[in-house]
Amino acid sequence: MSTTVNAEIGAAAAEGNLLHELVHWRLNTLGLPFDDTDSEFIAECIRVGAPISQDRRAQAAYQRYMRRFGLNEEAA
Ligand SMILES: [Zn+2]
Repeated sequence: MSTTVNAEIGAAAAEGNLLHELVHWRLNTLGLPFDDTDSEFIAECIRVGAPISQDRRAQAAYQRYMRRFGLNEEAA
């Protein structure tokens, strides 16, 4: 996270990014898988309402997760 980027994207998006990073931190601290592509990470992002990375691999993992559990991508 950077001050410059945060100013460009606005407070709401910056807060979403912070929440996303806190999900990485929490899972890492608990010794759980915490990569953007890990199911545990995606599940926790959905649980707390954190955004998923726009990275191609992360988006593909998110779509697989949603299909696997029959979840509606619009609702997440
Ligand atoms: Zn991430």
